[in-house]
Amino acid sequence: VTNSESLAPGERAALGALLERMFPADARGPGASAIGAADYIVAALAGAYAAHLPDYRAVLAALDAAARETSNAAFAESPAEQQDQIIAAWESGKLDQPDAPLCRHFERIWRHLREGLFCDPEHDGNRDLAGWRLIGFPGAQHGYEAAEQALDANVLREPLARARRREPRRAPATLIGSAPAEGTDVCIVGAGLAGMAAAWVFAEAGLSVLVLEAGPARTGKERVLDELAGTSVRNDGGAAKYNHEAPTWRRNAAESAQKLAFPQGLENGLGGNTVPWGAVAHRFHAGDFRARSETVERYGAQTLPGDSLLCDWSVDYDAMEPWYAIAERVLGVSGQEGNLQGRAIAGGNPFDAPRRDPYPMPALRTSGLGALFGQAAAAAGLHPFPLPAAIATQELRERGACTYCSFCSRFGCHVDAKASVQNTLLGRALATGRVAIRADSEVTRVATDDRGRAIGVDVRTADGRTTFQPAGRVVLAAYTFEVVRLMRLSAGAQHPDGLGNRTGMLGVGYMTRQQPSVYAHFPGRRLNRFIGPTAQAMAVDDFNADHFDHTGLGFLRGGRIACFNQYLPIEASGILPPGVPRWGAAWRDWVLAAYHATAMLFIDPEILPYRANRLDLDPNHAARDGRPLLRITFDIGDNERRMIAFLQERARMIAERMGAARIWARPPLTGPISTHDVGGARMGRDPATSVTDDCGRVHDTPNLMVLGGALFPTLPGLNPALTILALALRAAAGVAGLEATAVASAARR
Ligand SMILES: Cc1cc2nc3c(=O)[nH]c(=O)nc-3n(C[C@H](O)[C@H](O)[C@H](O)COP(=O)(O)OP(=O)(O)OC[C@H]3O[C@@H](n4cnc5c(N)ncnc54)[C@H](O)[C@@H]3O)c2cc1C
Ligand code: SF4
Repeated sequence: VTNSESLAPGERAALGALLERMFPADARGPGASAIGAADYIVAALAGAYAAHLPDYRAVLAALDAAARETSNAAFAESPAEQQDQIIAAWESGKLDQPDAPLCRHFERIWRHLREGLFCDPEHDGNRDLAGWRLIGFPGAQHGYEAAEQALDANVLREPLARARRREPRRAPATLIGSAPAEGTDVCIVGAGLAGMAAAWVFAEAGLSVLVLEAGPARTGKERVLDELAGTSVRNDGGAAKYNHEAPTWRRNAAESAQKLAFPQGLENGLGGNTVPWGAVAHRFHAGDFRARSETVERYGAQTLPGDSLLCDWSVDYDAMEPWYAIAERVLGVSGQEGNLQGRAIAGGNPFDAPRRDPYPMPALRTSGLGALFGQAAAAAGLHPFPLPAAIATQELRERGACTYCSFCSRFGCHVDAKASVQNTLLGRALATGRVAIRADSEVTRVATDDRGRAIGVDVRTADGRTTFQPAGRVVLAAYTFEVVRLMRLSAGAQHPDGLGNRTGMLGVGYMTRQQPSVYAHFPGRRLNRFIGPTAQAMAVDDFNADHFDHTGLGFLRGGRIACFNQYLPIEASGILPPGVPRWGAAWRDWVLAAYHATAMLFIDPEILPYRANRLDLDPNHAARDGRPLLRITFDIGDNERRMIAFLQERARMIAERMGAARIWARPPLTGPISTHDVGGARMGRDPATSVTDDCGRVHDTPNLMVLGGALFPTLPGLNPALTILALALRAAAGVAGLEATAVASAARR
């Protein structure tokens, strides 16, 4: 690294002074300088964050110029009071110039400061674990005992840095499994949840399967116990493709779409998003499959928002039940039954649809905070239950039981307790001897013949070469965004507007979850949320779906409220109530007081489908290879605004009963950042209103299937992946002619 590629000495001095004022030392311990935050940023600017170097230079130069204007001294040599005034001026935009909106960089530099304070020392910040000691975070512990999760337990552990040893970055070979036969029966695009489920079922039916995966082959354990490495911007292997192809977003057709400032954290690579997922594995309610009928029967058709596409699914819960059971067995889902064969079970979710079999494993243990939530909810007449999760609570095959380490959602699991493709479907698929997976192989187009049938795909490999892969059937399982993008990009003579778009429905009805969580502060208490996975949560479903009378409320449907664990310090130090500044002694005071004492009541609101919310190609933004990016047009409707206000009010009520002193809420529209992106290739019976049938077969393109959330016609107030898996199993079996009983018996092997 030469000087021109990193900060000059004067710039380093300014950076050090800036960060120290943002997180100043006090009697309780060191500030940003001694913790090494500046060293971290300097190192990052010479590597992972090199692209941000010009922004840093511009900001530091402006700080210096402002200081010299007032006192004729550099920023680093100015009095602290003056430095504070200049930082305030920067944050509020007063240092902006017409061609240099410097305040825009505040959020990113603030984020980098938090990384430097609280990252694993492996990344050159958090010197001598001083940042972690300051807030009492025990670091990269292997796991915790139940007693340590009791409310107000004082966890006395010496902070632990992550061992420097890294797991191998990738599985050894780009080609995994048997060499693909010349005439591949099925070519699947995407080795994530839906793609690998379909690969397994097709192979069980005797078909030869080639899975093409754009990202690298990987073990899924590349980023264990390391908060910084779990962020998408740092995840060089897993998120590289997605980060460069993140869609653009606008709220309506009158706006011009902008690139997302912070990508969603979606991953590319073997296993897809089953590596970083949080593993909440909730079946949809029976009523979710007939949301329109349920609404019309109870409230009348006039209550449906005029522009919504709210509909029933073309499958019902009874048809899905056997597939849910197989999906839960494959993943090893733990949970507490609420409705076993129609019999209510105490402690479970009374709103659950009937299940034929118990959960494969007992639920995750209840933390002290979870119990507090449960007591408060029950006292309010609600029905708390532990969330079901694809997390092993007992040893299962090669998988260990959960150790409650807390580096869970956004990370791979160090003991394989959390289900991923790697520790579930991959072995099953390979055991058939009929599946090959080729990593680093990005599909760029689906080829069709002159009769409009899919006949194979164009594949670009890591060496930049593009080849044609013929196949009897093509299955797109590349996550909602890339499924719709590829169908658009594959337009041809028979499909001038894209595959599946003969009736103009491709991309229509896109939905994405909003995250309007409510935060609650309990001064002086120790909630110990740095222990346990997010999925280790108590929840209530009383305000979800149509579980309550909506008469007079002004909205339809609802959402789940859950009290999540997993509170890691880089993220936690950015969660502030209104009125707390993002820097200075007041921010530091808040971070130190709030880290152990803040709970989150996470709300999963149902988002209705609307005709105006859609995915198409962006005419103004292209990926690195020149192909257009996907464009999201999305806003929530008045129905969701009113519903979210209602749910936030109910969450506040629970938090008050829990004894919170300060409660605040996120805004209702949090943008397309959720990872629950669904719709766009809706399934249904009528080609006029859908893109595929209920086995994902594209109406207007024979031999082409779609799998994944893109098929969803609605987005219930629950996590989607278990339903994505169940649908994929059902669809592949339906197309291959396998009964559920045959797939169930293969799953028991
Ligand atoms: C941090 C995080 C937490 C989450 N938590 C939960 C949760 O708790 N519960 C839940 O239900 N869901 C959760 N999700 C969502 C869940 O992971 C996804 O819904 C699920 O993985 C989707 O499955 P899929 O098969 O459709 O796509 P993916 O699993 O994303 O797989 C798609 C694959 O296609 C590949 N691909 C993309 N483009 C191409 C191309 N052009 N050519 C070849 N391959 C391509 C990708 O690289 C990827 O491997 C979470 C997601 C994230 C990121
Ligand atoms: S399942 Fe999650 S919390 Fe449990 S051990 Fe694995 S990563 Fe840690």
